[in-house]
Amino acid sequence: MSGDGHSTPPTTPPRLDAADTPLANIPSPSTWITDHLLLQYQRCARRAYLDTHRDRTQADPPSDYLQKIKQDSAEHRILVLEDYDGFQRPHYRRGDWRAGAQATIALMAAGADYIVGGVLLEAVEHDTYLVSCPDILVKQGGWSLWGDWQYAPVDIKLGKKPKLDYQIVAAFHASVLAHSQGSWPHESWLALREGRYHSVDLEQQLPKFGEVLAACLADLKGEIAPEVFIAHSRCDLCQWFSQCYQTAREVSHLSLLPGVTPARYTHLKAQGLRTVADLARAHPRQLAYLPGFGDAVAGRLIHQAQATLYDRAIARLPANTQQFVLSPQDLPSADVELYFDIEAAPDVDVIYLHGVLVVDHGHQTEQFHPLLAEAADQERDAWEQFLDLVLQYPQAPIYHFCPYEAQTARKLTRHYGSLPPEELQRLINRFVDIHWCVTASVTLPVESYALKHIARWMGFEWRDSEANGAQSICWYNEWLTSGDRTYLDAILRYNEDDCRATYHVKQWLTEFAQPHWQTSAATYLTASA
Ligand code: SF4
Repeated sequence: MSGDGHSTPPTTPPRLDAADTPLANIPSPSTWITDHLLLQYQRCARRAYLDTHRDRTQADPPSDYLQKIKQDSAEHRILVLEDYDGFQRPHYRRGDWRAGAQATIALMAAGADYIVGGVLLEAVEHDTYLVSCPDILVKQGGWSLWGDWQYAPVDIKLGKKPKLDYQIVAAFHASVLAHSQGSWPHESWLALREGRYHSVDLEQQLPKFGEVLAACLADLKGEIAPEVFIAHSRCDLCQWFSQCYQTAREVSHLSLLPGVTPARYTHLKAQGLRTVADLARAHPRQLAYLPGFGDAVAGRLIHQAQATLYDRAIARLPANTQQFVLSPQDLPSADVELYFDIEAAPDVDVIYLHGVLVVDHGHQTEQFHPLLAEAADQERDAWEQFLDLVLQYPQAPIYHFCPYEAQTARKLTRHYGSLPPEELQRLINRFVDIHWCVTASVTLPVESYALKHIARWMGFEWRDSEANGAQSICWYNEWLTSGDRTYLDAILRYNEDDCRATYHVKQWLTEFAQPHWQTSAATYLTASA
Protein backbone atom coordinates (compact mmCIF):
# COMPACT_ATOMS: atom_id res chain seq x y z
CA MET A 1 0.00 0.00 0.00
CA SER A 2 1.19 3.50 -0.67
CA GLY A 3 -0.39 6.40 1.16
CA ASP A 4 -0.47 10.15 1.20
CA GLY A 5 -0.42 10.43 5.01
CA HIS A 6 1.93 9.35 7.79
CA SER A 7 1.37 7.67 11.07
CA THR A 8 3.44 6.68 14.02
CA PRO A 9 2.11 4.09 16.43
CA PRO A 10 1.34 5.61 19.82
CA THR A 11 4.03 4.95 22.38
CA THR A 12 1.58 4.09 25.16
CA PRO A 13 0.75 0.37 25.12
CA PRO A 14 -2.85 -0.67 25.64
CA ARG A 15 -3.75 -1.24 29.26
CA LEU A 16 -5.78 -4.38 28.71
CA ASP A 17 -4.87 -7.55 26.92
CA ALA A 18 -7.19 -9.74 24.92
CA ALA A 19 -7.88 -11.99 27.87
CA ASP A 20 -9.72 -9.10 29.50
CA THR A 21 -12.32 -8.99 26.74
CA PRO A 22 -15.30 -10.45 28.59
CA LEU A 23 -16.69 -12.27 25.58
CA ALA A 24 -18.19 -15.00 27.69
CA ASN A 25 -20.00 -12.70 30.12
CA ILE A 26 -21.57 -10.00 28.03
CA PRO A 27 -24.77 -8.92 29.79
CA SER A 28 -27.92 -8.54 27.83
CA PRO A 29 -29.18 -6.00 26.91
CA SER A 30 -25.95 -4.13 26.17
CA THR A 31 -25.11 -0.89 24.42
CA TRP A 32 -23.07 -1.49 21.30
CA ILE A 33 -21.04 1.42 19.95
CA THR A 34 -20.21 0.34 16.43
CA ASP A 35 -17.89 2.17 14.06
CA HIS A 36 -20.91 2.95 11.88
CA LEU A 37 -22.73 4.50 14.85
CA LEU A 38 -19.67 6.60 15.71
CA LEU A 39 -19.50 7.84 12.12
CA GLN A 40 -23.18 8.83 12.23
CA TYR A 41 -22.70 10.45 15.64
CA GLN A 42 -20.05 12.76 14.24
CA ARG A 43 -22.45 13.85 11.52
CA CYS A 44 -25.45 14.25 13.81
CA ALA A 45 -25.67 13.33 17.52
CA ARG A 46 -29.45 13.15 17.29
CA ARG A 47 -29.28 10.64 14.48
CA ALA A 48 -27.09 8.27 16.51
CA TYR A 49 -29.55 8.60 19.39
CA LEU A 50 -32.60 7.90 17.23
CA ASP A 51 -30.82 4.96 15.56
CA THR A 52 -30.27 3.35 18.96
CA HIS A 53 -33.41 4.40 20.87
CA ARG A 54 -36.24 4.47 18.34
CA ASP A 55 -38.05 1.85 16.38
CA ARG A 56 -36.38 1.84 12.94
CA THR A 57 -39.69 0.98 11.29
CA GLN A 58 -40.78 4.56 12.09
CA ALA A 59 -37.98 5.97 9.93
CA ASP A 60 -38.51 7.07 6.32
CA PRO A 61 -37.79 4.51 3.61
CA PRO A 62 -34.40 5.07 1.94
CA SER A 63 -34.54 7.33 -1.09
CA ASP A 64 -33.38 6.04 -4.48
CA TYR A 65 -30.31 8.24 -4.14
CA LEU A 66 -29.40 6.76 -0.76
CA GLN A 67 -29.84 3.27 -2.23
CA LYS A 68 -27.56 4.26 -5.08
CA ILE A 69 -24.87 5.48 -2.67
CA LYS A 70 -25.09 2.15 -0.83
CA GLN A 71 -24.81 0.30 -4.12
CA ASP A 72 -21.80 2.41 -5.18
CA SER A 73 -20.15 1.73 -1.80
CA ALA A 74 -20.67 -2.00 -2.19
CA GLU A 75 -19.15 -1.91 -5.69
CA HIS A 76 -16.18 0.12 -4.44
CA ARG A 77 -15.66 -2.41 -1.63
CA ILE A 78 -15.63 -5.31 -4.10
CA LEU A 79 -13.07 -3.46 -6.24
CA VAL A 80 -10.73 -2.81 -3.29
CA LEU A 81 -11.01 -6.39 -2.04
CA GLU A 82 -9.71 -7.67 -5.38
CA ASP A 83 -6.26 -6.56 -4.17
CA TYR A 84 -6.41 -8.85 -1.11
CA ASP A 85 -6.00 -12.23 -2.64
CA GLY A 86 -6.99 -15.22 -0.50
CA PHE A 87 -8.63 -13.22 2.29
CA GLN A 88 -10.55 -15.12 4.95
CA ARG A 89 -13.84 -14.27 6.64
CA PRO A 90 -14.92 -15.14 10.17
CA HIS A 91 -18.16 -17.15 10.13
CA TYR A 92 -20.85 -16.10 12.59
CA ARG A 93 -24.54 -15.35 12.72
CA ARG A 94 -25.22 -11.78 11.54
CA GLY A 95 -25.50 -9.40 14.51
CA ASP A 96 -23.99 -11.85 17.03
CA TRP A 97 -21.01 -9.67 17.88
CA ARG A 98 -19.63 -12.03 20.49
CA ALA A 99 -19.49 -14.94 18.05
CA GLY A 100 -18.01 -12.62 15.41
CA ALA A 101 -15.24 -11.50 17.77
CA GLN A 102 -14.43 -15.09 18.77
CA ALA A 103 -14.21 -16.17 15.13
CA THR A 104 -12.04 -13.15 14.24
CA ILE A 105 -9.62 -13.73 17.11
CA ALA A 106 -9.32 -17.36 16.03
CA LEU A 107 -8.27 -16.21 12.53
CA MET A 108 -5.82 -13.67 13.95
CA ALA A 109 -4.31 -16.24 16.29
CA ALA A 110 -3.89 -18.60 13.33
CA GLY A 111 -2.03 -15.86 11.41
CA ALA A 112 -4.42 -15.31 8.45
CA ASP A 113 -2.86 -12.83 6.00
CA TYR A 114 -6.04 -10.86 5.35
CA ILE A 115 -9.28 -10.97 7.35
CA VAL A 116 -12.33 -9.39 5.75
CA GLY A 117 -15.49 -8.62 7.75
CA GLY A 118 -13.83 -9.17 11.14
CA VAL A 119 -15.33 -8.08 14.47
CA LEU A 120 -13.37 -6.68 17.40
CA LEU A 121 -14.89 -5.99 20.82
CA GLU A 122 -13.85 -3.93 23.81
CA ALA A 123 -15.80 -3.30 27.01
CA VAL A 124 -15.83 0.34 28.06
CA GLU A 125 -18.42 0.00 30.83
CA HIS A 126 -20.06 -3.08 32.35
CA ASP A 127 -22.87 -3.01 29.79
CA THR A 128 -21.28 -0.97 27.00
CA TYR A 129 -19.07 -2.36 24.26
CA LEU A 130 -17.14 -0.91 21.38
CA VAL A 131 -17.72 -2.94 18.22
CA SER A 132 -15.10 -2.37 15.55
CA CYS A 133 -15.72 -3.93 12.13
CA PRO A 134 -12.77 -2.85 9.99
CA ASP A 135 -13.28 -3.88 6.38
CA ILE A 136 -9.89 -5.60 6.28
CA LEU A 137 -7.33 -6.67 8.87
CA VAL A 138 -3.90 -6.92 7.26
CA LYS A 139 -1.18 -9.07 8.83
CA GLN A 140 2.09 -7.20 9.38
CA GLY A 141 5.43 -7.66 11.12
CA GLY A 142 5.56 -6.75 14.82
CA TRP A 143 4.30 -8.48 17.90
CA SER A 144 0.95 -9.47 19.37
CA LEU A 145 -0.49 -11.88 21.91
CA TRP A 146 -0.01 -14.67 19.40
CA GLY A 147 3.58 -14.19 18.32
CA ASP A 148 5.73 -12.10 16.01
CA TRP A 149 2.94 -10.74 13.88
CA GLN A 150 0.16 -8.25 14.31
CA TYR A 151 -2.65 -6.64 12.31
CA ALA A 152 -3.44 -3.20 10.92
CA PRO A 153 -7.01 -2.14 10.05
CA VAL A 154 -8.08 -0.90 6.60
CA ASP A 155 -11.45 0.85 6.27
CA ILE A 156 -12.95 1.18 2.80
CA LYS A 157 -14.72 4.49 2.18
CA LEU A 158 -16.40 5.78 -0.95
CA GLY A 159 -15.15 9.38 -0.50
CA LYS A 160 -12.16 10.76 -2.36
CA LYS A 161 -10.73 12.58 0.64
CA PRO A 162 -9.74 11.36 4.12
CA LYS A 163 -12.43 13.35 5.92
CA LEU A 164 -11.97 13.90 9.64
CA ASP A 165 -14.93 11.68 10.56
CA TYR A 166 -13.37 8.80 8.59
CA GLN A 167 -10.06 9.35 10.39
CA ILE A 168 -11.72 9.29 13.81
CA VAL A 169 -13.31 5.96 12.88
CA ALA A 170 -9.89 4.67 11.73
CA ALA A 171 -8.52 5.64 15.17
CA PHE A 172 -11.47 3.79 16.74
CA HIS A 173 -10.50 0.62 14.82
CA ALA A 174 -6.85 0.99 15.88
CA SER A 175 -7.80 1.43 19.52
CA VAL A 176 -10.09 -1.61 19.71
CA LEU A 177 -7.62 -3.66 17.69
CA ALA A 178 -4.83 -2.72 20.12
CA HIS A 179 -7.01 -4.02 22.91
CA SER A 180 -7.70 -7.29 21.04
CA GLN A 181 -4.19 -8.12 19.88
CA GLY A 182 -2.29 -6.70 22.85
CA SER A 183 -0.23 -4.16 20.89
CA TRP A 184 -0.84 -0.98 18.96
CA PRO A 185 -1.07 -1.41 15.20
CA HIS A 186 1.64 0.50 13.36
CA GLU A 187 -0.92 2.03 11.05
CA SER A 188 -4.61 2.46 10.34
CA TRP A 189 -5.55 2.93 6.69
CA LEU A 190 -8.40 4.37 4.68
CA ALA A 191 -8.95 2.87 1.22
CA LEU A 192 -10.56 5.73 -0.70
CA ARG A 193 -11.97 6.14 -4.18
CA GLU A 194 -9.75 5.96 -7.26
CA GLY A 195 -7.27 3.61 -5.57
CA ARG A 196 -6.08 6.15 -3.00
CA TYR A 197 -4.86 4.98 0.40
CA HIS A 198 -4.46 7.28 3.36
CA SER A 199 -2.50 6.36 6.46
CA VAL A 200 -4.14 8.04 9.45
CA ASP A 201 -1.92 9.91 11.91
CA LEU A 202 -2.88 7.98 15.04
CA GLU A 203 -0.99 10.20 17.43
CA GLN A 204 -3.07 13.11 16.22
CA GLN A 205 -6.42 11.35 15.90
CA LEU A 206 -6.50 9.08 18.97
CA PRO A 207 -7.04 11.94 21.46
CA LYS A 208 -9.82 13.32 19.24
CA PHE A 209 -11.37 9.88 19.05
CA GLY A 210 -11.34 9.75 22.87
CA GLU A 211 -13.24 13.04 23.06
CA VAL A 212 -15.79 12.00 20.43
CA LEU A 213 -16.36 8.66 22.15
CA ALA A 214 -16.87 10.27 25.58
CA ALA A 215 -19.41 12.73 24.12
CA CYS A 216 -21.16 9.94 22.22
CA LEU A 217 -21.48 7.77 25.34
CA ALA A 218 -22.86 10.68 27.35
CA ASP A 219 -25.42 11.58 24.65
CA LEU A 220 -26.56 8.01 24.09
CA LYS A 221 -27.16 7.51 27.80
CA GLY A 222 -29.24 10.70 28.03
CA GLU A 223 -32.97 10.59 28.76
CA ILE A 224 -33.88 12.72 25.76
CA ALA A 225 -32.61 12.91 22.19
CA PRO A 226 -30.11 15.68 21.34
CA GLU A 227 -31.83 18.79 20.02
CA VAL A 228 -33.03 18.79 16.44
CA PHE A 229 -31.12 20.95 13.96
CA ILE A 230 -32.26 20.88 10.35
CA ALA A 231 -29.37 21.32 7.92
CA HIS A 232 -30.66 20.36 4.50
CA SER A 233 -27.23 19.31 3.23
CA ARG A 234 -27.09 16.45 5.73
CA CYS A 235 -30.75 15.96 6.71
CA ASP A 236 -32.18 15.51 3.21
CA LEU A 237 -30.68 12.02 2.96
CA CYS A 238 -31.44 11.05 6.57
CA GLN A 239 -34.21 8.56 7.21
CA TRP A 240 -35.34 10.44 10.34
CA PHE A 241 -36.00 13.58 8.33
CA SER A 242 -39.82 13.47 8.44
CA GLN A 243 -39.85 13.14 12.22
CA CYS A 244 -37.16 15.75 12.82
CA TYR A 245 -38.74 18.20 10.40
CA GLN A 246 -42.10 17.89 12.15
CA THR A 247 -40.41 18.49 15.51
CA ALA A 248 -38.59 21.54 14.15
CA ARG A 249 -41.82 22.97 12.72
CA GLU A 250 -43.69 22.41 15.97
CA VAL A 251 -41.18 24.48 17.94
CA SER A 252 -40.56 27.00 15.15
CA HIS A 253 -36.91 26.05 15.33
CA LEU A 254 -34.33 28.57 14.19
CA SER A 255 -32.51 26.00 12.08
CA LEU A 256 -35.41 26.32 9.62
CA LEU A 257 -34.10 29.76 8.71
CA PRO A 258 -31.45 30.00 5.97
CA GLY A 259 -28.26 31.49 7.40
CA VAL A 260 -28.65 30.04 10.91
CA THR A 261 -25.65 27.71 11.14
CA PRO A 262 -25.00 25.48 14.17
CA ALA A 263 -22.32 27.92 15.40
CA ARG A 264 -24.61 30.95 15.04
CA TYR A 265 -27.45 29.03 16.68
CA THR A 266 -25.31 28.45 19.77
CA HIS A 267 -24.79 32.21 20.12
CA LEU A 268 -28.47 32.98 19.48
CA LYS A 269 -29.53 30.49 22.16
CA ALA A 270 -27.12 32.09 24.62
CA GLN A 271 -28.97 35.37 23.95
CA GLY A 272 -32.27 33.68 24.82
CA LEU A 273 -33.38 33.64 21.16
CA ARG A 274 -34.77 30.19 20.43
CA THR A 275 -37.66 30.66 18.01
CA VAL A 276 -38.31 32.50 14.77
CA ALA A 277 -40.52 34.97 16.65
CA ASP A 278 -37.74 35.69 19.20
CA LEU A 279 -35.29 36.46 16.43
CA ALA A 280 -37.78 38.55 14.45
CA ARG A 281 -38.11 40.88 17.46
CA ALA A 282 -34.36 41.19 18.11
CA HIS A 283 -32.38 44.33 17.33
CA PRO A 284 -29.31 44.08 15.07
CA ARG A 285 -27.20 45.75 17.78
CA GLN A 286 -27.97 42.81 20.07
CA LEU A 287 -26.36 40.39 17.59
CA ALA A 288 -23.78 42.33 15.61
CA TYR A 289 -20.99 41.91 18.18
CA LEU A 290 -21.39 38.10 18.39
CA PRO A 291 -18.62 35.99 16.80
CA GLY A 292 -19.44 35.21 13.17
CA PHE A 293 -22.15 37.88 12.92
CA GLY A 294 -21.30 41.55 12.28
CA ASP A 295 -23.85 44.14 11.11
CA ALA A 296 -24.59 42.46 7.77
CA VAL A 297 -25.30 38.97 9.12
CA ALA A 298 -27.26 40.30 12.11
CA GLY A 299 -29.50 42.40 9.88
CA ARG A 300 -29.95 39.62 7.39
CA LEU A 301 -30.93 37.00 9.97
CA ILE A 302 -33.46 39.30 11.61
CA HIS A 303 -34.98 40.11 8.21
CA GLN A 304 -35.12 36.42 7.45
CA ALA A 305 -36.98 35.76 10.69
CA GLN A 306 -39.40 38.64 9.98
CA ALA A 307 -40.05 37.44 6.42
CA THR A 308 -40.79 33.94 7.76
CA LEU A 309 -42.90 35.10 10.70
CA TYR A 310 -45.10 37.36 8.58
CA ASP A 311 -44.91 35.19 5.44
CA ARG A 312 -43.94 38.03 3.14
CA ALA A 313 -41.07 39.07 0.89
CA ILE A 314 -38.89 41.93 2.17
CA ALA A 315 -36.68 43.95 -0.18
CA ARG A 316 -33.02 44.02 0.80
CA LEU A 317 -32.09 47.68 0.88
CA PRO A 318 -28.45 48.38 1.81
CA ALA A 319 -28.22 50.62 4.91
CA ASN A 320 -26.02 53.19 3.16
CA THR A 321 -28.19 53.73 0.04
CA GLN A 322 -31.66 52.34 0.88
CA GLN A 323 -31.85 51.70 -2.89
CA PHE A 324 -33.15 48.52 -4.47
CA VAL A 325 -30.05 46.50 -5.45
CA LEU A 326 -31.17 45.39 -8.91
CA SER A 327 -31.50 47.66 -11.90
CA PRO A 328 -33.62 46.77 -14.98
CA GLN A 329 -30.33 45.92 -16.74
CA ASP A 330 -29.58 43.27 -14.08
CA LEU A 331 -32.89 41.58 -14.88
CA PRO A 332 -33.21 42.11 -18.63
CA SER A 333 -36.46 41.55 -20.48
CA ALA A 334 -36.43 40.92 -24.24
CA ASP A 335 -38.72 39.75 -27.03
CA VAL A 336 -37.14 36.32 -26.75
CA GLU A 337 -35.78 34.98 -23.46
CA LEU A 338 -34.09 31.62 -22.86
CA TYR A 339 -34.36 29.60 -19.64
CA PHE A 340 -31.60 27.03 -19.29
CA ASP A 341 -30.95 24.09 -16.99
CA ILE A 342 -28.29 21.36 -17.18
CA GLU A 343 -28.40 17.76 -15.93
CA ALA A 344 -25.13 15.93 -15.29
CA ALA A 345 -24.22 12.36 -14.34
CA PRO A 346 -21.13 12.67 -12.12
CA ASP A 347 -20.65 8.86 -11.97
CA VAL A 348 -19.98 8.62 -15.67
CA ASP A 349 -18.61 12.15 -15.83
CA VAL A 350 -20.98 13.35 -18.51
CA ILE A 351 -23.13 16.45 -19.02
CA TYR A 352 -26.06 14.74 -20.63
CA LEU A 353 -28.89 17.27 -20.90
CA HIS A 354 -29.15 20.95 -21.83
CA GLY A 355 -32.79 21.90 -21.35
CA VAL A 356 -33.76 25.25 -22.91
CA LEU A 357 -37.17 26.88 -22.68
CA VAL A 358 -37.52 29.47 -25.46
CA VAL A 359 -40.05 32.13 -24.44
CA ASP A 360 -41.03 34.29 -27.41
CA HIS A 361 -43.09 37.18 -26.04
CA GLY A 362 -43.69 38.64 -29.51
CA HIS A 363 -45.32 35.47 -30.81
CA GLN A 364 -46.60 34.43 -27.36
CA THR A 365 -45.04 30.98 -27.58
CA GLU A 366 -43.07 28.84 -25.19
CA GLN A 367 -41.11 25.90 -26.55
CA PHE A 368 -38.94 23.50 -24.58
CA HIS A 369 -35.86 21.99 -26.27
CA PRO A 370 -34.27 18.99 -24.53
CA LEU A 371 -30.77 18.65 -26.03
CA LEU A 372 -29.91 15.21 -24.82
CA ALA A 373 -26.98 12.79 -24.84
CA GLU A 374 -28.71 9.40 -24.72
CA ALA A 375 -25.29 7.75 -24.27
CA ALA A 376 -22.21 9.07 -22.50
CA ASP A 377 -20.30 9.44 -25.79
CA GLN A 378 -22.90 11.88 -27.16
CA GLU A 379 -21.99 14.70 -24.78
CA ARG A 380 -20.37 16.75 -27.54
CA ASP A 381 -23.37 16.42 -29.88
CA ALA A 382 -25.77 17.60 -27.20
CA TRP A 383 -23.50 20.55 -26.36
CA GLU A 384 -23.19 21.61 -30.00
CA GLN A 385 -26.97 21.38 -30.46
CA PHE A 386 -27.27 23.73 -27.50
CA LEU A 387 -24.87 26.20 -29.12
CA ASP A 388 -26.75 26.01 -32.44
CA LEU A 389 -29.99 26.82 -30.63
CA VAL A 390 -28.81 29.73 -28.47
CA LEU A 391 -26.81 31.31 -31.31
CA GLN A 392 -30.09 31.60 -33.27
CA TYR A 393 -31.18 34.18 -30.68
CA PRO A 394 -28.12 36.42 -30.29
CA GLN A 395 -30.01 39.10 -28.33
CA ALA A 396 -31.80 36.77 -25.92
CA PRO A 397 -30.75 36.76 -22.28
CA ILE A 398 -30.08 33.23 -20.97
CA TYR A 399 -31.55 32.81 -17.52
CA HIS A 400 -30.31 30.02 -15.25
CA PHE A 401 -30.23 29.25 -11.53
CA CYS A 402 -26.80 29.32 -9.73
CA PRO A 403 -23.37 29.57 -11.39
CA TYR A 404 -23.19 25.93 -12.53
CA GLU A 405 -24.64 26.50 -16.03
CA ALA A 406 -22.20 29.33 -16.86
CA GLN A 407 -19.25 27.35 -15.43
CA THR A 408 -20.24 24.28 -17.46
CA ALA A 409 -20.66 26.32 -20.64
CA ARG A 410 -17.07 27.57 -20.26
CA LYS A 411 -15.80 24.10 -19.48
CA LEU A 412 -17.51 22.40 -22.44
CA THR A 413 -16.56 25.14 -24.89
CA ARG A 414 -12.90 24.87 -23.93
CA HIS A 415 -12.99 21.08 -23.84
CA TYR A 416 -14.48 20.75 -27.32
CA GLY A 417 -12.98 23.94 -28.76
CA SER A 418 -16.49 24.89 -29.87
CA LEU A 419 -16.13 28.69 -29.98
CA PRO A 420 -13.30 31.21 -30.19
CA PRO A 421 -12.67 32.99 -26.83
CA GLU A 422 -14.39 36.26 -27.80
CA GLU A 423 -17.54 34.42 -28.91
CA LEU A 424 -17.55 32.41 -25.71
CA GLN A 425 -17.31 35.66 -23.76
CA ARG A 426 -20.21 37.13 -25.76
CA LEU A 427 -22.25 34.05 -24.94
CA ILE A 428 -21.38 34.15 -21.23
CA ASN A 429 -22.27 37.86 -21.08
CA ARG A 430 -25.84 36.85 -21.92
CA PHE A 431 -26.12 34.54 -18.89
CA VAL A 432 -28.19 35.88 -15.98
CA ASP A 433 -28.03 34.02 -12.67
CA ILE A 434 -31.55 34.43 -11.27
CA HIS A 435 -30.45 32.89 -7.94
CA TRP A 436 -27.99 35.75 -7.47
CA CYS A 437 -30.69 38.27 -8.45
CA VAL A 438 -33.09 36.89 -5.82
CA THR A 439 -30.61 36.52 -2.96
CA ALA A 440 -29.10 39.98 -3.59
CA SER A 441 -32.40 41.79 -3.62
CA VAL A 442 -35.07 40.12 -1.51
CA THR A 443 -35.58 38.10 1.68
CA LEU A 444 -38.21 35.41 1.24
CA PRO A 445 -40.10 33.30 3.78
CA VAL A 446 -38.36 30.10 2.67
CA GLU A 447 -36.23 27.48 4.41
CA SER A 448 -33.64 27.51 1.66
CA TYR A 449 -32.85 29.57 -1.40
CA ALA A 450 -32.84 26.47 -3.60
CA LEU A 451 -35.01 26.69 -6.74
CA LYS A 452 -37.61 24.29 -5.34
CA HIS A 453 -38.18 26.33 -2.19
CA ILE A 454 -38.19 29.71 -3.88
CA ALA A 455 -40.39 28.82 -6.86
CA ARG A 456 -42.86 26.90 -4.71
CA TRP A 457 -43.31 29.87 -2.42
CA MET A 458 -43.97 31.97 -5.53
CA GLY A 459 -46.72 29.55 -6.56
CA PHE A 460 -44.99 27.22 -9.02
CA GLU A 461 -45.54 23.45 -8.78
CA TRP A 462 -43.47 20.66 -10.35
CA ARG A 463 -45.51 17.99 -12.14
CA ASP A 464 -43.55 15.32 -10.25
CA SER A 465 -43.38 16.63 -6.69
CA GLU A 466 -40.74 14.05 -5.63
CA ALA A 467 -38.28 14.76 -8.46
CA ASN A 468 -34.95 16.39 -7.61
CA GLY A 469 -31.36 16.54 -8.85
CA ALA A 470 -30.25 13.46 -6.90
CA GLN A 471 -33.21 11.52 -8.24
CA SER A 472 -32.41 12.50 -11.83
CA ILE A 473 -28.87 11.09 -11.40
CA CYS A 474 -30.47 7.78 -10.38
CA TRP A 475 -32.88 7.92 -13.30
CA TYR A 476 -30.10 8.47 -15.84
CA ASN A 477 -28.20 5.58 -14.32
CA GLU A 478 -31.33 3.41 -14.64
CA TRP A 479 -31.75 4.49 -18.26
CA LEU A 480 -28.13 3.57 -19.07
CA THR A 481 -28.44 0.14 -17.48
CA SER A 482 -32.01 -0.80 -18.44
CA GLY A 483 -32.69 1.19 -21.64
CA ASP A 484 -36.16 1.92 -20.26
CA ARG A 485 -37.26 5.25 -21.79
CA THR A 486 -39.68 6.04 -18.97
CA TYR A 487 -36.59 7.11 -16.97
CA LEU A 488 -35.56 9.51 -19.72
CA ASP A 489 -39.10 10.87 -19.94
CA ALA A 490 -39.09 11.51 -16.19
CA ILE A 491 -35.78 13.40 -16.48
CA LEU A 492 -37.03 15.55 -19.37
CA ARG A 493 -40.23 16.40 -17.47
CA TYR A 494 -38.23 17.36 -14.40
CA ASN A 495 -35.72 19.42 -16.40
CA GLU A 496 -38.46 21.25 -18.30
CA ASP A 497 -40.17 22.08 -15.02
CA ASP A 498 -36.89 23.45 -13.65
CA CYS A 499 -36.66 25.74 -16.70
CA ARG A 500 -40.28 26.81 -16.24
CA ALA A 501 -39.70 27.39 -12.53
CA THR A 502 -36.73 29.64 -13.40
CA TYR A 503 -39.03 31.59 -15.76
CA HIS A 504 -41.66 31.85 -13.01
CA VAL A 505 -39.07 33.24 -10.55
CA LYS A 506 -37.89 35.79 -13.13
CA GLN A 507 -41.44 37.01 -13.72
CA TRP A 508 -42.14 37.24 -9.98
CA LEU A 509 -38.94 39.17 -9.32
CA THR A 510 -39.59 41.59 -12.20
CA GLU A 511 -43.01 42.35 -10.77
CA PHE A 512 -41.59 42.73 -7.25
CA ALA A 513 -38.91 45.12 -8.57
CA GLN A 514 -41.32 47.42 -10.50
CA PRO A 515 -42.33 49.75 -7.62
CA HIS A 516 -38.67 50.12 -6.60
CA TRP A 517 -37.62 50.94 -10.16
CA GLN A 518 -40.46 53.45 -10.48
CA THR A 519 -39.41 55.11 -7.20
CA SER A 520 -35.80 55.32 -8.40
CA ALA A 521 -36.91 56.82 -11.72
CA ALA A 522 -39.12 59.39 -9.95
CA THR A 523 -36.25 60.33 -7.61
CA TYR A 524 -33.93 60.74 -10.57
CA LEU A 525 -36.42 62.96 -12.44
CA THR A 526 -37.03 65.11 -9.35
CA ALA A 527 -33.30 65.48 -8.78
CA SER A 528 -32.64 66.48 -12.41
CA ALA A 529 -35.60 68.92 -12.60
S1 SF4 B 1 -32.95 14.57 10.08
FE1 SF4 B 1 -31.18 15.84 10.50
S2 SF4 B 1 -31.40 16.40 12.68
FE2 SF4 B 1 -32.72 14.64 12.32
S3 SF4 B 1 -31.49 12.88 12.85
FE3 SF4 B 1 -31.30 13.18 10.66
S4 SF4 B 1 -29.46 14.42 10.35
FE4 SF4 B 1 -30.08 14.58 12.52
